[in-house]
Amino acid sequence: MPIDDFKNRWPENISGKYYVSNQCMDCDLCRETAPANFARHHAGGYSYVRKQPETPEEEALVRECVAGCCVDTIHTDGDVFDWRAIPADTPFYLTPEGEALRKRNAEQISHSCCKARPSIWARLRRLLSGKG
Ligand code: SF4
Repeated sequence: MPIDDFKNRWPENISGKYYVSNQCMDCDLCRETAPANFARHHAGGYSYVRKQPETPEEEALVRECVAGCCVDTIHTDGDVFDWRAIPADTPFYLTPEGEALRKRNAEQISHSCCKARPSIWARLRRLLSGKG
């Protein structure tokens, strides 16, 4: 439903025709294709419209992003809605459930093999140097 997509837009989108809603998979295509118009929200891990296209060239690049977005989450009907009257929903990552999920993920990462790898390499170096 378009109104649901509009409500589910990221709050960082600049108002106008184009906006990104919350299905973004952070694939980077739009930011690579139209860096003047899309930016990454690092804490949330998603793209949003940082600037509406102002030239035919920018419009063409943003259109390319709309067509190429793997989850069809760049929308083109932003000029139909009143941005002030319809606020964006709170992004999931800022809800209590989202905060809890991020905390769990951070804990898992801190216990993962990625963290252990440097000590494995240090041990291997010691073994190879005969000091292990
Ligand atoms: S192309 Fe779509 S899924 Fe990929 S980063 Fe942009 S908005 Fe997100």
